[in-house]
Amino acid sequence: MSQVAAFKPYFLGPKSENETWVRARLDGVLDDWFAWRKSLFADDPRSISAADQAASGFALEQSLIGQRLAQLVSQLRGEAPIYSPRYIGHMVSELGLPGLLGHFAALLHNPNNSSKEFSKVGTVIETEAIAMLAAMVGYDPAHARGHFTSGGTLANLEATWRARYRMDHNLALGLTLAEDFGRPLDVFAAVHMSARRAGELIAEFGLSPDAMRSRSAVLGNPFELAERVGRASGRPYRGPVILAPGHKHYSWVKAANVFGLGQDAFWSVPVDVEGRLSVEGLAARIDEARALGRPVLMVVSVAGTTEMGELDPVDRVAEHLAGQSEREGIDIWHHVDAAYGGFFCALGADDSLLSPSLRRALQALRLADTVTIDPHKLGYAPYACGAILTRDETRNAVSSFAAPYIERDELDAAPWTTTLEGSRPATGAAATWLTGKTLGYGPTGLGAVLSSTIESCRALRVALSAASGQVRPLDPTDTNIFCFSIARSGEALSTANARSAAVQARFTTSPTFSMSRTVLSMQACPDLITAHVGSYRGRADCDRLVLLRCVLMNPFWSDPAVRAGLLGDLARELRGYIDGLAE
Ligand SMILES: *Cc1c(COP(=O)(O)O)cnc(C)c1O
Repeated sequence: MSQVAAFKPYFLGPKSENETWVRARLDGVLDDWFAWRKSLFADDPRSISAADQAASGFALEQSLIGQRLAQLVSQLRGEAPIYSPRYIGHMVSELGLPGLLGHFAALLHNPNNSSKEFSKVGTVIETEAIAMLAAMVGYDPAHARGHFTSGGTLANLEATWRARYRMDHNLALGLTLAEDFGRPLDVFAAVHMSARRAGELIAEFGLSPDAMRSRSAVLGNPFELAERVGRASGRPYRGPVILAPGHKHYSWVKAANVFGLGQDAFWSVPVDVEGRLSVEGLAARIDEARALGRPVLMVVSVAGTTEMGELDPVDRVAEHLAGQSEREGIDIWHHVDAAYGGFFCALGADDSLLSPSLRRALQALRLADTVTIDPHKLGYAPYACGAILTRDETRNAVSSFAAPYIERDELDAAPWTTTLEGSRPATGAAATWLTGKTLGYGPTGLGAVLSSTIESCRALRVALSAASGQVRPLDPTDTNIFCFSIARSGEALSTANARSAAVQARFTTSPTFSMSRTVLSMQACPDLITAHVGSYRGRADCDRLVLLRCVLMNPFWSDPAVRAGLLGDLARELRGYIDGLAE
């Protein structure tokens, strides 16, 4: 209880309960901004005179802005009330006040974090905020690198970009050895050699950077290079593959497209009966790629799936890859897409709310080469705020062959050279920084907020399951997202899908509550769907499962009175919709 009370000041509240305090803080930020302008260059003349302000044109202009602003503000009231605990539809909810205030303060100064020249403070805040996130996921903050992005999609692209440079470097090295020294080229082995092995070979053969650069597919013509790789290795080179679990986020398909790989390069890894990436399935797919001479650009595991908030066994994936590295010298890039679930690391290793296997998965984020995490989801920061974290500086590199004409200092001063985006705001960094400095990314701060959301989700699952015998919870409910379908015992899946969709449609027009809908495909997770349908002795007569989805991010569900009231109302509303379905 005291824990709940402890984090209430970090949110405005559905009734603007903390209005007075927030207004004063916003005023304080504005006061400082105004005073800053007045005090700097104090002797410079005013640029807008009192006469200008009195002139009718100016007054009209101002009143037009005033009118249109009022119109905009009033139009915005049509937005979904995502701050309310009644809103459990998508991965959005009440904003955290430190995030909002940090964002607002940085917005007024509007630094551009693409360069330390324009952003003297914003870039420093960004480095500190990245170190906070890195420490939370278990990276050594002294070595970890990364930056803020517009979101998880961009962060996933950033990881792919880095992995591709690593691959390009190693393949160019292998091709140089083949073409200049007559060494046999095994594409898979060459791409997956360790950084240390690459360094040894470069030293042993005295390879010049120019010789390798002329074999880079990134710097040269990738089609011509593929032909040369084919000749040197004795079979056509078909390019790399990306291995990600079947329920992957759509951003991975985009990544394959953007990097010109074609969707053929996107290989899905089977998921088990609980919908988690199957490590055996992963091992088989790696072997398959190896047999075809296609390197693995990266292995992706997901911490917090978009559909179910579920965690892949990141620890067992890491263990498998480490074993392969030790036994065979095969190093494969491991990326964890923790856009949603990364912040559960804030619960800490001692937390007993999550099962030991889930805790092990979270603790293994530190073993990944790169991690995507979205402060604009469970970090309660305003959009657009995602982040890519890299375990160290080597993994952050986006140049396979250091260009000798760029000075190191110059690189350090220009973050844009290592980001896909050019101009970038400092708002996300400031939001994350202020949240870290106040609420904090540990068990008594954000961890406590997120524990409460997991508890609320469990309570919701119990209450909705009791609302009607036709509510069929989807297992597992790992974190704070609850999915279920509506089905009668023995019913065909296609019939149940239609009923689930009809009930969800009622929620999209409900004035009181919202739930979202998600669809799982039989192709992506056959065992999960079969087990779910089996739980009500149904018949799987179609290739997809329609689910209602509740995302319990809102912190106010943790309040016992709020929770009891909402659960009763929501269960009644759900039962009403189910009972009201036409036969
Ligand atoms: C939300 C999400 C993304 C995409 O993040 P955006 O911020 O929407 O670009 C990627 N992966 C997972 C697992 C997500 O939940």
